[in-house]
Amino acid sequence: MVKRGLVWFKNDLRIYDNEALVKAHKECKELVFCYCIEESWFQKLELGFRRMDINRFRFMQQSVLNLRQNLEKLGAHLMIGEKSALTTLPELVKTYGITDIYAEQEYAPYELDLVDQVTAALPEIDFHFFWGKTLYHKDDIPFEISKIPLTSKAYRIPVSKKSEPRQPFDVPGKLKGIADMKTEPFPAYTIYGFSKSEYEQSQVLIEGGEDAALERLEYYTFKSELLTGYRWSRNKSDGMDYSSKLSPYLALGCISPRVVDAKVKDYEEKVKKNQSTWWLIFEMVWRDFFTFKEMRIGVSLFSTKGFKNKKMVWENDEDQFRRWCEGSTGIPFIDAHMRQLNQVGFMSNRGRVNCASYLVFDLKIDWTWGAAYFESKLIDYDVSSNWMNWHMQAFEIWYTNPVHQSNKYKAQDFIRKWVPELSGANDIEALIPWEFDVHDYVKPIEIYSKWGRAINLIKKVD
Ligand code: FAD
Repeated sequence: MVKRGLVWFKNDLRIYDNEALVKAHKECKELVFCYCIEESWFQKLELGFRRMDINRFRFMQQSVLNLRQNLEKLGAHLMIGEKSALTTLPELVKTYGITDIYAEQEYAPYELDLVDQVTAALPEIDFHFFWGKTLYHKDDIPFEISKIPLTSKAYRIPVSKKSEPRQPFDVPGKLKGIADMKTEPFPAYTIYGFSKSEYEQSQVLIEGGEDAALERLEYYTFKSELLTGYRWSRNKSDGMDYSSKLSPYLALGCISPRVVDAKVKDYEEKVKKNQSTWWLIFEMVWRDFFTFKEMRIGVSLFSTKGFKNKKMVWENDEDQFRRWCEGSTGIPFIDAHMRQLNQVGFMSNRGRVNCASYLVFDLKIDWTWGAAYFESKLIDYDVSSNWMNWHMQAFEIWYTNPVHQSNKYKAQDFIRKWVPELSGANDIEALIPWEFDVHDYVKPIEIYSKWGRAINLIKKVD
C-alpha cells in the first residue's frame, strides 16, 4: 500500500538529526508536516500564573517559524494547529488521506497522555515513534528504565563505559510535500490570552529556531573558543558568554544533543581538549540522567512529598511567594535573578540553585510552587530538567546561603543591572543593602541569623 505520511513535530523543531523526519521521508510517497499548539499550555493555574508565559510563547513561535522556513527550502509546508493535536491531526488525516504518523517519542506523563489520546482517536493510523531527546539513545544504555540508578554516578560511569552516542541523521533531500498545501500564518497570540503590550514588550534572551541554535553552537565553540574556559566560567550569572545557552534550543529540540556532542568532539581534535570540553558533555549526561530517572519515577515526581513520599513542613505564605516571584524579597542576589527570569525568560544555573534553596529552606514554601513558576517562565523549560532539579534541591541537596554566594561569585554588577534601585550602591551595599538604609529598595522579608558570618565577611568584620 502507498503510504501518505504526516510528520508531527513536537519538541523536535529541527530538520538536522531528526529521525522521524528522515524515516517518514524514506517510507512515504507524500508527506504533510504539522506542529500543534495546545490551548491547555496557557491555562491559568490556581497559583495565579499561566503554565506557559509570554517569553516561552515567543521562543516557541520563533522556533516553529524557523522550522517552517527550513521546510519550505526543502519544498514543503508546515501546518500549525491552534487548539490541540487532538483536533488538528484527525482533520489532517481526513483531508489528506494520511495512513502513517511519524513523531518523536515522549517520556513525561502529561505529554504521554496526549499522545495516548491522539492514538486512541486515530485507530486506523500506523504510528511510528522515535527516541530523540537524549545524547545516549534510550535503547543503548546498559539499564532498563525501571532499573535506572537513583544516583548520577551509578548511572554515568557504566553508560560512558558501555555506550556510545549514535551518529546524527543528515538533513533529508527535497521533501515530498503534498502539492496543494499552502503556508498558513502562525496563530495570533491573542487566542492564548496574551495582550498586544505583553507580546510587544517581551524581551526573550535569545532568538529561537534551528538556525540560531546552530549559529550559537558554532559561536560558543570554534568562533569564540569560549568553550575552552567553560569549566571556570559556568557558575557566573550575567551575560551570554559564561555558559553555552544551548538549553532553550535543546528543550524545544531546535538542536539535538548528538549534534552538540559531535561539535565538541571536533573541537577537542582541532582546538583544545580539556576539563571544560569534558564538563559540557558531563552536563548533557546529567540531562539524560534526569530524563531517564523521571521516566522511572513517573507522576509521583510532581507531588509535594516527592517520589520518596518525604514529609516536610511548609509555611506557604502567599505574600512571600508573590514577593519571590516578582523579585522583591529584599535579598538582592535573589531579586536580581528573579527579575532577570521574569524579563528575559532565562536564569543561570547558579541563580536557579539559589532561588530554589531560598524558597524551600528559608521561606519554607512548597517546592512544587517554585517549580511551576519556573515552568511558566523559563524559555528552556524541560519537564525532567526542571522538575528533577527542583526535586533534588528540595530533598537531596544541602542549603545554599544566598548572601555568601553573592559575595563568592562577586555579583555586584549583576545586582546593579537587574535591581535598578541599587544601581548607585557600592560593592558592599549592593550585597547587603539592609545594613545601610541608604537606598530606595524594599526591606528584606527576613535576615536569618545563619547569614551572620557571611554578612560580617562582606563588611570585613569577621
Ligand atoms: P550549560 O552550562 O552551557 O550546560 C550545557 C547543557 O547541559 C545545558 O544546555 C543543559 O541542556 C545541560 N545542563 C546543564 N546543567 C544541567 C542540569 N543541572 N540539569 C539538566 N541539564 C543540565 N535546565 C533546563 O534545560 N530546563 C529546565 O527547565 C531547567 N530547570 C532547572 C531548575 C532548577 C531549580 C535548577 C537548579 C536547574 C535547572 N536546569 C534546567 C538546569 C540548568 O540550570 C540549565 O540547563 C542551564 O542553566 C542552562 O544554561 P546553559 O545552556 O548555558 O547551560
